Amino acid sequence: CPSNNYKDKEVNVQVLLRCRPLSDEEQKSNVQRVISCNEHKKEVTVFQNVANKQIDRLFTFDKVFGPKAQQRSIYDQAIAPIVNEVLEGFNCTVFAYGQTGTGKTYTMEGGMKNKGGDLPAEAGVIPRAVRQIFDTLEAQNADYSMKVTFLELYNEDITDLLATDDNSRCPEDRQKKPISLMEDGRGCVVVRGLEEEAVYSVNEIFTLLERGAAKRRTADTLLNKRSSRSHSVFSITVYIKEATVGDEELIKCGKLNLVDLAGSENISRSGAREGRAREAGEINKSLLTLGRVINALVEHSSHIPYRDSKLTRILRDSLGGKTKTCIIATISPSAHCLEETLSTLDYAYRAK
Ligand code: ADP
Ligand code: MG
Repeated sequence: CPSNNYKDKEVNVQVLLRCRPLSDEEQKSNVQRVISCNEHKKEVTVFQNVANKQIDRLFTFDKVFGPKAQQRSIYDQAIAPIVNEVLEGFNCTVFAYGQTGTGKTYTMEGGMKNKGGDLPAEAGVIPRAVRQIFDTLEAQNADYSMKVTFLELYNEDITDLLATDDNSRCPEDRQKKPISLMEDGRGCVVVRGLEEEAVYSVNEIFTLLERGAAKRRTADTLLNKRSSRSHSVFSITVYIKEATVGDEELIKCGKLNLVDLAGSENISRSGAREGRAREAGEINKSLLTLGRVINALVEHSSHIPYRDSKLTRILRDSLGGKTKTCIIATISPSAHCLEETLSTLDYAYRAK
């Protein structure tokens, strides 16, 4: 009886909080800091002055990283154990959630250029995960293969960031093949029309990543900060040969999704004007549904609303059940961002 099996009900959602440092400009203009992080106690304090009264709010998370935290230490403490699960054959997802400008892309991508052997200090989660996967498998002398996909979800439309079949610089027509979601009959969703690149070396993945990230940046300049309103999903699937039984091969398969979400300010923006209405609504849809799915998982609800958005459909095989999920909520320390910061902290806290 599944209801007696508490182990099955274990929820593997981890919520981390990262506060970026003030930028040089913010420091020059003496921007007021309203956030204090206590990494040891895993606490974040928000200093708030309401009607001349000091009302501070305290939030606790699974881990807290203050402005001085290095990319490497976040990776080693929080992400490396998740990547180990992937190498054991589990599906896992890491999200970056937060207001635009708080460091989601910095946390996920950072500096991706791989200069020879060593990663630069500013390398983020994606290049470090790729590195760890290859290094571990090579050290084990494993017989393995892997493939990667990199997609962008904008207005509930999927763009393949790895597609090479076009020279168009216009994001609206660069997608020649229609990309659609199909159910495979076993409850799994297949993204049809998406390029899957088999990769054989770290450098090959870095080249692909650069290509995808550059595509996203190009779209940005053309469409007024499209990336703040789009989600990007980098997925790496690893197949590891475990044994050969007769003429059958036993293959262990794990998948890691690394997701840079749309700016969370889109979630609270209501009353969008005519032309933007669809966009605001559709962005809300994936972000809001993700929140609902995670809440439902945390509360062991019997209905998980995966089907309500494309993002949650794409990630369905990697959210819930035996999978591990990590949300990195990013915030700014500045007083100017206070309202959005509180909404991020509330969203992230609810996911715990
Ligand atoms: P987002 O993707 O959430 O919109 P970005 O990752 O683009 O935000 O970060 C905004 C700016 O702040 C970038 O210039 C980035 O390099 C810088 N930044 C973000 N987080 C950090 C950090 N922890 N340390 C240093 N610089 C950071
Ligand atoms: Mg970004």
